[in-house]
Amino acid sequence: MKIHEYQAKELFKQYGIKVPKSVLCEKKENIEHTIKDFSVPCVIKAQVHSGARGKAGGVKLAQDYQNAIEIANEILGMELVSKQAGAKKVNKILIEQAVDIEKELYLSLTFDRANEAIALILSTQGGMDIEETAKTTPEKIYTELIKDNFNPLETVSKAGFHDNISKQIADIISSLHKLAKEKDALLVEINPLVITKQNEVIALDAKINFDDNALFRHEDILALKDEAEENPFELQAQKEGLNYIKLDGTIGCMVNGAGLAMATMDVIRLAGKNAANFLDVGGGASSEKIEKAFKLLIADKNLEAVFINIFGGILRCDFLAEGVKNAIQNLNIKVPVIVRMEGTNKENGADILNHSGLKFTVIKDLNEAIEVIKNI
Ligand code: ADP
Ligand code: MG
Repeated sequence: MKIHEYQAKELFKQYGIKVPKSVLCEKKENIEHTIKDFSVPCVIKAQVHSGARGKAGGVKLAQDYQNAIEIANEILGMELVSKQAGAKKVNKILIEQAVDIEKELYLSLTFDRANEAIALILSTQGGMDIEETAKTTPEKIYTELIKDNFNPLETVSKAGFHDNISKQIADIISSLHKLAKEKDALLVEINPLVITKQNEVIALDAKINFDDNALFRHEDILALKDEAEENPFELQAQKEGLNYIKLDGTIGCMVNGAGLAMATMDVIRLAGKNAANFLDVGGGASSEKIEKAFKLLIADKNLEAVFINIFGGILRCDFLAEGVKNAIQNLNIKVPVIVRMEGTNKENGADILNHSGLKFTVIKDLNEAIEVIKNI
């Protein structure tokens, strides 16, 4: 789960990490008095779940009150189109004190699954071009796995910092590490972490992604979820207990088991198409759950076809067929529905579909699936 910059900065404050003074504004009619109560110069920042807002015109410096009001009116409500997240409507802005920047650094902690440890990334070259730095001068980016004997001051020195700000950076690393562990974050990123002209180290940006599987033990974090930022299909799926991720292709797929879902997406690629989604209905789905999943699937406007690929183990193929039949009966489905079932009661399942009076293409194996999908 992602949260907004302003929410992440509140968490930073709780952990003792310095951030600039700021105020949130959600309504156009509040812009003028909110800014008049604030100080200038200030920076107006779009609050959307996306990086690279600066490059997309969502972060702007205002020198005086008039300028700040104009910029705030321009950014609040705008459609922000970024490289990272596509088009997003800006429903909230953060009005933040402008900081005198001496140098922009980069600091993040990510969960490194392969090494079963938190990885730290620190660079003297932070800011909006960090991706470019990673490509052209990777030696300027220091990485380290955080182990039991972790010593932040040593790390800061190895990363190339030797002056009086080292201690400040080391303290921020310790706080960030504590936050990541206590709140089960998969990523905490400060880009830029800045050294000000007054030699203070401050977090100017804040990004945190939390582990969805750990949210059950963090009610405070769950309360920060902004549903307006979530994909409506994904939100609906979460409510139905389905594992669903929206993708860009045109073949909707319904599968049981994440491994089978990935293999199915490979099959679709082999047929020269792309999956419209990842949907895992789980091992023991009932026919009602199948019906809900199917309705969710076909609400997608980009579909050319639906491919149902089910291995009937705990989930019986006749339950699956019943659920799909019920879902289809009342819906006007224009795209072909291709079904491959293996496992428990597959003959009964095929019978239900073949005698439903509805149009299905029941296929036997994945080679046949490739041929059928190719010719859609
Ligand atoms: P994004 O990463 O989404 O582009 P940032 O919050 O990192 O957004 O802002 C982009 C750039 O704007 C920063 O790299 C920094 O140079 C500048 N900036 C952001 N906040 C401030 C601030 N409070 N004072 C001065 N400059 C800022
Ligand atoms: Mg940033």
